Amino acid sequence: MNSIIQCLNNTAILVTYFCNGQYLEHVNRSHSTRGAIAEELAAVVRALWSGQYRFIATRDLRLGYISECASEAGDYSHHSLARYALSRNDNWLLSRRWNCPNCKEKRDAVKKLDISRLPPVLVIHFKRFYVDPKEYMCNAYRKKQTYIDFPLEDLDMRQFSLHSPPNHSYNLYAVSNHYGSMEGGHYTAYCKSSVYGKWYKYDDHVVTEIPSSEVKSSAAYILFYTSCSARQT
Ligand SMILES: [Zn+2]
Repeated sequence: MNSIIQCLNNTAILVTYFCNGQYLEHVNRSHSTRGAIAEELAAVVRALWSGQYRFIATRDLRLGYISECASEAGDYSHHSLARYALSRNDNWLLSRRWNCPNCKEKRDAVKKLDISRLPPVLVIHFKRFYVDPKEYMCNAYRKKQTYIDFPLEDLDMRQFSLHSPPNHSYNLYAVSNHYGSMEGGHYTAYCKSSVYGKWYKYDDHVVTEIPSSEVKSSAAYILFYTSCSARQT
């Protein structure tokens, strides 16, 4: 939780959105949660940017309440689009025989997914956890520790886009890292400060500066990119 909050707290457009109160126009008070999660997150972001505290305890974020809301919201996965896109070249070309509606013959076909509109912030979630096929009856999750190479600057999304958008270049500004296994794991965050332009490691209440060469590791779990046109300011 701390790790993701640090990543969100370093998302410049989100910080502006919460700190200037713009989010209030969009909170859905008629929903069963009455906008409580947005209010709690806004309070945390404002506290972190107030400069008043060395660290804050996010248990105030009422974790139990959030998990209740999350299960109510169901299985929504906002990372799936990017995940499909980046696995497309390996897996989605998922070649198949396809029934052609014109000649009624089975033909070789290629299925692919393209992104029609690129977002200002791109979140890429590596699928590190999987159910061990040998133990699927007991839902035993395993973790892939594979090292994945990813660019810190200039991730070119043109190859995953339906059109050739003008703003196709993305820079990395945060990484949520996971160490250990499904049962006993630890999260940290690496975030690039929009104020100082340096990378920092957030490990619970300890924050240390790190060189950019340390950002890529086999612990990387969720990547946060910003469009160069919506550059972190
Ligand atoms: Zn045909």
